[in-house]
Amino acid sequence: MTPAERAVAGFLETYGTAPCITAVAPGRVNLIGEHTDYQGGLVLPVAADLRTAVAAGPAGGGIVKACSGLFPDPVSFDPGSLSPGNPIEGWGRYVAGIAWALYSSGMAVPGADIYIESDIPPGSGLSSSAALEVAVGMALSAMAGSVSWDESSLRSLAGFCQLGENEYCGVPCGSMDHLAACLGVSGSALLLDCRTLEASPVPIPGDLSIVVCDSGERHDLSTAGYPGRQAEAAAALASLGTRRPEVQSLRDAVPEDLVILEEALAAAGAPASEAVRLVGRARHIIEENRRVRLAAEALGRGDGASMGRLMRESHDSLRDLYGVSTPGLDALVEAAMALPGCFGARLTGGGFGGSVVCLVETGGVEGFLAAMSAFLPGGARLVRPSGGAAIERIG
Ligand code: ADP
Ligand code: MG
Repeated sequence: MTPAERAVAGFLETYGTAPCITAVAPGRVNLIGEHTDYQGGLVLPVAADLRTAVAAGPAGGGIVKACSGLFPDPVSFDPGSLSPGNPIEGWGRYVAGIAWALYSSGMAVPGADIYIESDIPPGSGLSSSAALEVAVGMALSAMAGSVSWDESSLRSLAGFCQLGENEYCGVPCGSMDHLAACLGVSGSALLLDCRTLEASPVPIPGDLSIVVCDSGERHDLSTAGYPGRQAEAAAALASLGTRRPEVQSLRDAVPEDLVILEEALAAAGAPASEAVRLVGRARHIIEENRRVRLAAEALGRGDGASMGRLMRESHDSLRDLYGVSTPGLDALVEAAMALPGCFGARLTGGGFGGSVVCLVETGGVEGFLAAMSAFLPGGARLVRPSGGAAIERIG
């Protein structure tokens, strides 16, 4: 059964009636461009054929109640009395976060019963949190009034989801995950500019396949080192800004700025270990943005070898300069790269566990999947680049 079918069945069983709407949003696999989005940079994700479905129906009393097939304990709240200073604990905060963001924007968020089902393993680097927020946001918006889902309304839904995750849930994520979940294009990766929020589809040639290997190591981005990395990137930017105030985000920085940053940190009396760390973080972001541009070009001309090389360089940089890989992820990358037909592999998502994405020659992908599945606790799967969030079934 699809997540949408399971969500409808779960809704019927839980609430004793049929839902009026089912919204579905995909997880995403980021091909390249990691830890660049929150510095206004470039990313190249695909929306995956793994989805979260939210079945919803009206409820009296203005209360939103949500159950998930993946987590115990339903949550319920009054959308008008949510406060970021006192967020709901546990998984329900992601549901409350988007409800809070929509309510704060002036939307009359209706009372609703909600049932959630998903194929996206939470914490595996495929952005289950964004898929959940986008699907909930789409369902609540549709129940609040008629919405025609075009690129502009989807883009603004992505913005509300990010706001909810940042402000209400306290996760300082960038804009990639929600934009990918909202704007995904079947058969294509999306070159996203996280400053302008422009999205350009880059078709993926049929002879290149995307495989995701789940390390089985779970992260929780609200508690892991993710906020720490973001704070370090901001600290590097602030130091650089003392010499180069025109650099508004590390997206604007150039390789020559690394020397200027080093000098600024030394002048400010930063300990040597901190200076090395912050310069490394900035170097990763500057070089990763360049790699994303080159990768989009390589993918566009069907050059798997170049694309794969850039993915491998990205992984090494995330391991050595950004410090977000783990021995388990490194071992998966090495194992994948040793197999025939694998052009490149890298950790995907924030790191600290989660998944590795591999670019593989389509002709050899079955053998690759079998070899990686034998090696892995969580398994390897082929990912088909899919479309973005949509209302799947009404009534
Ligand atoms: P990622 O987004 O990479 O999967 P996060 O740590 O950002 O990892 O988000 C995972 C969290 O999102 C889960 O721990 C849970 O709180 C919430 N979540 C994700 N999917 C679901 C779901 N199907 N039902 C309920 N909560 C979910
Ligand atoms: Mg997430």
